[in-house]
Amino acid sequence: MASPALLMRVVASAYSVAEKAATIVRNVMAAGDLGIVEKTGANDLQTKADRLVQMSICASLARKFPKVTIIGEEELPADEVTEELIEDGHCEEILKRTCPAQYTGIKEEELVIWVDPLDGTKEYTEGLLDHVTVLIGIAYGGKAIAGVINQPYYNYEAGADAVLGRTIWGVLGIGAFGFQLTEAPPGKHIIVTTRSHSSTLVNDCIGALNPDSVIRVGGAGNKIIQLIEGKASAYVFASPGCKKWDTCAPEAILHAVGGKITDIHGNAFQYNKEVKHMNSAGVLAALRNYDYYASRIPNTVKQSLVP
Ligand code: AMP
Ligand code: MG
Ligand code: MG
Repeated sequence: MASPALLMRVVASAYSVAEKAATIVRNVMAAGDLGIVEKTGANDLQTKADRLVQMSICASLARKFPKVTIIGEEELPADEVTEELIEDGHCEEILKRTCPAQYTGIKEEELVIWVDPLDGTKEYTEGLLDHVTVLIGIAYGGKAIAGVINQPYYNYEAGADAVLGRTIWGVLGIGAFGFQLTEAPPGKHIIVTTRSHSSTLVNDCIGALNPDSVIRVGGAGNKIIQLIEGKASAYVFASPGCKKWDTCAPEAILHAVGGKITDIHGNAFQYNKEVKHMNSAGVLAALRNYDYYASRIPNTVKQSLVP
């Protein structure tokens, strides 16, 4: 049999690398010294887990796929990465899947991997542990085509017997796995949005959608999980602040199951390596009925958010 396509090998490796990342996230918390650093301010934090996980993910993937462009959220000194941070395993199940025909010819230098080592850092520091995810998004031709989301503390409130953590993965044209795809309650408009980065504009936009309820939780990865598990019907964030590493893996997984994510104007996100990191015009996403929400975003909100 021919060796698996590059894309499938990258996703299979990213799966194992994300599981190693989850172990680091749990170990840093268990050790108790988070080493918190403020980046742009008190709502933009970095912990020891963000730093170690980024080193682990980027070094592990770069070692296996040296010509792939890897862009991580954190700016770190170019330290030697210790061998104990390297993960060289892969998920056999993913390697067994057939690569969609349009992706079989992809070369390493054509892939861009967007890494959010720890999404929901603010919530991590506040003990809201199931908000936290590790995001590895894979882009080709400027599009998010595959992604891995690890939720290190999935099940942490379910008791000591429950298996802690899970890994969700997806590829356009194959689907997404590691969770139970569930529709949101029909006829209800449940909006999921930021917990720690609200503003008048964020709240005005949600108000204009006249929701039945609003869920405020941390993390872009976590909010996409709320959509694909039927907890919320739309993710609405009318604000800059979210970056390409926040949306790449979630986008690939949401699109792999038929959902849609764009900025607040309805523009697709671009993930080529030269692109601006900030998603300046916010985020709008839904598993179903995206058009309903898109058509109800007020023009005043759109005018306040320049792409
Ligand atoms: P949230 O929904 O607030 O958890 O935000 C989703 C992602 O976007 C997280 O990675 C946040 O750190 C990031 N983010 C959103 N708004 C801001 C902001 N105003 N400053 C820094 N990061 C932000
Ligand atoms: Mg993030
Ligand atoms: Mg982060």
